[in-house]
Amino acid sequence: GATIRLENLTKSYPGNPAPAVDNVTMDIKAGETVILVGPSGCGKSTTLKMINRLIEPTSGRIRINDEDVTDMDPVKLRRKIGYAIQSSGLFPHMTVAENIALVPKMTGWSKSGVKDRVEEMLDLVGLDPREFHGRYPRQLSGGQQQRVGVARALAADPPVLLMDEPFGAVDPITRDHLQDELIRLQHELHKTIVFVTHDFDEAIKLGDRIAVLRERSHIAQFDTPEAILTN
Ligand code: ADP
Ligand code: ADP
Repeated sequence: GATIRLENLTKSYPGNPAPAVDNVTMDIKAGETVILVGPSGCGKSTTLKMINRLIEPTSGRIRINDEDVTDMDPVKLRRKIGYAIQSSGLFPHMTVAENIALVPKMTGWSKSGVKDRVEEMLDLVGLDPREFHGRYPRQLSGGQQQRVGVARALAADPPVLLMDEPFGAVDPITRDHLQDELIRLQHELHKTIVFVTHDFDEAIKLGDRIAVLRERSHIAQFDTPEAILTN
């Protein structure tokens, strides 16, 4: 894992007077799973996108292991951060294997290294490589697509994993199953995970710590599930 520090992070979108994220400061420890939970529109996705540098903060800083994300070379950033989103975000014209191989290839892994890694990742998320390797996303169920999305996010072995409602689009039984798998993965891999959800039960189940957010990502509480449940 790696530490993540958000320092007075603010984002105002053009044409919108109220900031989506207003002066948020948060320290995330190496190897912990932090859940951002809060109502729709409170700025959770915006926060995650800033960490992943998909959007620029209006002000404030983000550091990963004390290194400012803004100064980081894009390829290095890809190596550091895996990103999984609702609806899986898989490229429809690429096979499962090609989707998973994307970031390792981009970051300079050898052909044989990438090939082995794709199989390893499919095994890790519980999909038989022989069966799923050559399929296109449309030939998968929603739950299988989410698994491939997680496999792709983990493929280059990044210390940080950002997950934006990754199980939001699957049925409750599959979701429960995927949550259990994430807990198992976390025991094995010790990634630093920032996980966004609006589902409080999911937050309690998955989080080492939970940040309960109000509007503009104001942090109402930031504590362990046990402490939050007893307050
Ligand atoms: P959440 O992930 O908690 O649902 P978001 O981060 O998506 O919240 O959105 C936070 C706020 O910023 C909302 O009020 C939303 O309407 C606004 N917002 C999000 N994206 C944009 C954008 N591209 N342009 C303008 N406003 C945006
Ligand atoms: P080669 O084929 O040149 O012997 P590999 O295919 O084993 O080398 O790996 C090439 C590079 O890809 C390695 O130097 C390493 O940085 C990266 N790599 C390969 N496999 C992994 C892995 N499982 N975890 C992290 N990095 C890996």
